[in-house]
Amino acid sequence: MIGIFGGTFDPVHYGHLRSALEVSEIAGLSELRFIPCHRPPHRGTPGATPRQRLEMLKTALENAPPSFRIDTREMERPGPSFMVDTLRSLRHDIGRRPMALIVGADAFRSLEGWHQWPDLFDLAHLLIMQRPGESSDWPQALAAIFKERQALGMSSLHERPQGLIASISVTPLAISASQIRCRLEAGNSAQFLTPDSVIERIKAWHLYGTGENQKPPEA
Ligand code: ATP
Repeated sequence: MIGIFGGTFDPVHYGHLRSALEVSEIAGLSELRFIPCHRPPHRGTPGATPRQRLEMLKTALENAPPSFRIDTREMERPGPSFMVDTLRSLRHDIGRRPMALIVGADAFRSLEGWHQWPDLFDLAHLLIMQRPGESSDWPQALAAIFKERQALGMSSLHERPQGLIASISVTPLAISASQIRCRLEAGNSAQFLTPDSVIERIKAWHLYGTGENQKPPEA
C-alpha cells in the first residue's frame, strides 16, 4: 500500500517525520510519498516559497528509509493545490494498488471544507493520526462517515484500493510548523523540533524573521 503525506511543510518538523515513520510501520506501507503543496487552498501564503519548502523537506529526508520519497506533482500544477486533484492524478499513475491519504486529526476535523471532499473516498483510504490537543470527538457528519467506513484492522486496507478509514495512534508530539515559526520570529531556537539541516536552511535564507530579531547568546 502506498501512503500519501500531503502538507505545507512550512517548515517540515519532527512531528511530521516521526508520525510518518510510525504510520508507515503500523500500516505496512511499501512506499510513503511526501507531497508538498504549491498553493495551500485553505490558509494564507506560507512564510517560505514552494522551492524553499521543498528544499527543507529534501534535507530533512536525507537519512529517511528508502521507501520515503518526495512527489512534486503539486509544485508542478498551477492553481490551488486541491488534494482531490492530486489523488486523481496518483490513481491514474498507480492503477488499483491500495493507496492511503495520511492526515492529522486536525486536518480530518476540517475535511468538510476540502474541495470535493466526498470524492476522496473513491480514490484512497484515509489514515488519521492522533495529534496532541485534538480529541476524536468529530463533528456529526464526520463521525458518521468514520463509523460507516471504519477499517476492521490494518489488513483490510490492503485488500481493496480505497474507501476505508483508520485511526492510528502515533507518539504524541506537540510540534507544529506555526509554533516553530513563532519561536523563530521571537528570536528563540527551533533546535530539536526539526532537523539541524532544516534550521541551517532557515537561517541561510533568513526565513521566519531569522536574521532580524535574534536574541544575543546568554553570557
Ligand atoms: P501549521 O502549524 O503551519 O498549521 P502543521 O505543523 O500542522 O502546520 P502541515 O504541513 O500543515 O504542518 O501538516 C501536514 C500534515 O501533518 C497534516 O495532516 C497535519 O495534521 C499533520 N501533522 C503536522 N504536525 C503533526 C504532529 N505533530 N503530529 C501528527 N500529525 C501532524
